[in-house]
This record gives sequence, C-alpha cells and structure tokens, in this order.
Amino acid sequence: MSFFRNSDVLIIGGGVIGLSIARELHKQGVGRITLLEKGICGEESSWAAAGMLSPQVDTNEASPFFDLCCASRDLYPPFVEELFDETRVDIELDRAGTLYLAFSYDDVSRIRERFKWQRETGHSVEHLSAEETSRVEPFVSPFIREALFFPNDWQVENRKLISALKRFAEINGIKIRENTSVEKLVVNGNHVVGVETDDGIIYADMTIVATGAWTSLIKLGDAGIPVKIEPVRGQIVAFQSPKRLFQRVICCRGGYIVPRRDGRILAGSTSENVGFDRSVTESAVLSLKEMACEITPAIADMEIADHWAGLRPYASDGLPVLGSIGGLDGLFMATGHYRNGILLAPLTAKLAANKLISNIDSEYFKTFGVERFQFRGIGTSGQH
Ligand code: FAD
Repeated sequence: MSFFRNSDVLIIGGGVIGLSIARELHKQGVGRITLLEKGICGEESSWAAAGMLSPQVDTNEASPFFDLCCASRDLYPPFVEELFDETRVDIELDRAGTLYLAFSYDDVSRIRERFKWQRETGHSVEHLSAEETSRVEPFVSPFIREALFFPNDWQVENRKLISALKRFAEINGIKIRENTSVEKLVVNGNHVVGVETDDGIIYADMTIVATGAWTSLIKLGDAGIPVKIEPVRGQIVAFQSPKRLFQRVICCRGGYIVPRRDGRILAGSTSENVGFDRSVTESAVLSLKEMACEITPAIADMEIADHWAGLRPYASDGLPVLGSIGGLDGLFMATGHYRNGILLAPLTAKLAANKLISNIDSEYFKTFGVERFQFRGIGTSGQH
C-alpha cells in the first residue's frame, strides 16, 4: 500500500526528469501528483537534446556512472513499449546502434583501448575496418582509419518522448501547472512541507526538485540549496537530407551526427559556459558543420533546416544528483543530469519512486547523493 495514496507529491520542473518521475509515481499508485513548471513543460534542455542513448560510445573506463547509464539504457525497450500502450505516441526508439569513427592514429589507439576493456567487461562492441565501415554506412568519410560499432547504443526522438510523457500526465490526472515558478522550498523543522511560488504557497507531503540548470536558483528555507548546478549551453544544427543517408548515429572525437526518421540530420554539439543565455551563434554553425563534414562530406551540400540551443544542468563533477538532502524529510533531488538526462530518465524515475513510495535506498544514492559535494570534486566526460 502506497504511503502517499491520499497525499500530495509536488514535482518542480517539467522536463524529461520531472515528467518521468510523475509517470512512475502514478504507475506505482501515488494518487495526487502536481507538477509545477516555470514555463511550458519540455521546452528546455529536454527539447534541445539529440536523444542519444549511448553510454558506451564515449567511455574509457568502468565506473558507477557507466553502470547507471547502462542500466537506464536497458530500461528503454520496455519503457518505450509501455509508453506507446499508454499514450499511442511512438517515441521512435531506433536500435540500429552507434558508430564511432577514428581518423587519426591517436583516435585509433583510443578506440582500441575502449574496445578491449568493453569486451573484457562483457559489453557488446565490434571493431570495423575502414572498408567494413563504408559497407555499413556508405556515406561516411573516406578518410577514416577504422571504427567501433556499439549495437546497444541507441537513439530516441526526445521531443516525442516529452509529448508522450505529457500525454500520460493528461490522461492520468497528473495536475500540471505551467507558468508557475517555484522560488523557495518551505521548511518546517527538518521537513520540507511545500513550496512558495510566484502564485502563493502550495503544501505537500513530498517535494521533488527536477529543475535542471535552474536548481541553484531555488532557496531552501532562508538558505540556498546545497548543490551547485550550472547551465552549460549546447547548440545543435539540423541539416535536411533529401533521403535517409545514414542508418545509425555516428560519432567522432569532435561530435556526432544523429539521423532522424524525418530526414533531418542533427549535428552536435557545443559546450559553452555562458550562463542562462540560450541564444544560437554563427560560430557554432560553422564549427558544427565542419565537424559534420569530417564525418561525412555529404553534409556539405545540405541545407540547414534548424538550429537551436539548450542549457544542460551541470554539477561540479558532471554527475547527476539523486537522493535526499541529509537531515531533511520530504525532499528528493533529481537534477544535474548534464549530458545524459534523456538516457537517465527511466532509471531516475524508478529510483525516485522506489525511495518515495517504499523507502528503498539505492546504492546509487551513495555515489550520486548531495553529500558527495562535501568531500569530492571533478570527474567524467562525454560529448552530447
Ligand atoms: P530540463 O529539460 O531543462 O527541465 C527542467 C525544467 O524545470 C525546465 O522546464 C524549467 O523551466 C523547469 N524549472 C526550472 N526551475 C524552475 C522553478 N523554479 N520553478 C518551476 N519550474 C522550474 N541527454 C541525453 O541523454 N542524450 C543526448 O543525446 C543529449 N544531447 C543533448 C544535446 C544538447 C545540445 C543538450 C543541451 C542536452 C543534451 N542532453 C542529452 C542532456 C539532456 O537534455 C538533459 O540532461 C536533460 O534534458 C535534463 O532534463 P531535466 O528535466 O533535468 O531538465
């Protein structure tokens, strides 16, 4: 029996993380869920992403973060199937796999190491010669030396994922209040009892903070939230291809291209520390086009169909922030997903729901909890 059956859960933030948690809580029996969004749900980082579900492609060593990412990726096939049954929205999970191209001798030695440790640790990865690569993707650059193929690194259409999650909320009576900004978490003793919005106070038994890059702007009582999340701008350029030239996501050291079903090819992405500025720049178009042309000369003649930017939520070590804040009841943090929020959404939602409903503490909370900032720094990589 759910502890929250007749209680309120408040979720702050209507990106992929907040919406996925809302869905999971509903599925596990929580009755009244309200989601507060300062703008329109799903129009920030989750909208701007490339939708890659690719823990393996860029990773050179085992770590709890790698395990977290792989575990969430492995939840995707049932997650997508269930979402389709629930909403009739196809979020276009594409399981054709991902290629990583090596152009230089340095790239070659990196990918050989990656191949070795991933094979040794039981992950699926194949080594391809240049000829084999051009057989599976005939339009890639003739200048590659070799490549790795990751059959289990996939992609989804993240904007359709957001639509599906919003549809789920509508169908199932999850209350969404858009254009409602939370300014402060209201604390009584050692319990977070609700939030103060620009439209008044709302009380709840449990509050979940899923506010992405804006997390540190919210106050915790009269103090700040003890987690520093910063925005890191990422820009993507979409090219329009007359027909589908690529079957799979293709990466290289400088970036990636993601072929969508509708013929667009996304080229990403930049990584810029420019505060909350979400504007796009000419220099990003040039550098992303150059990177994409290195992957495939076919891009050179394609028209640019679109260009956008989003703000990734970055904690000081680049890792997600999951769990409670020590000594405080009634609060759960799910933020800092940086380059992997689309990938990590299904598992984040399950971990949050298991904690809130059944008080199950995941091992992951030890690694990714708020407490780590008291004694640890810097880590991780990736290019989404
Ligand atoms: P968001 O989607 O930003 O949602 C947070 C929401 O909270 C926003 O809607 C915001 O308005 C709301 N909010 C904030 N503060 C308040 C407040 N005080 N009150 C009310 N509402 C509030 N990830 C992948 O897994 N794969 C990829 O291929 C990938 N590619 C990316 C490419 C780019 C260019 C970018 C920018 C990101 C990419 N990411 C990718 C990362 C991914 O987009 C993010 O990690 C993910 O979207 C984070 O989800 P979120 O819900 O935490 O944040």
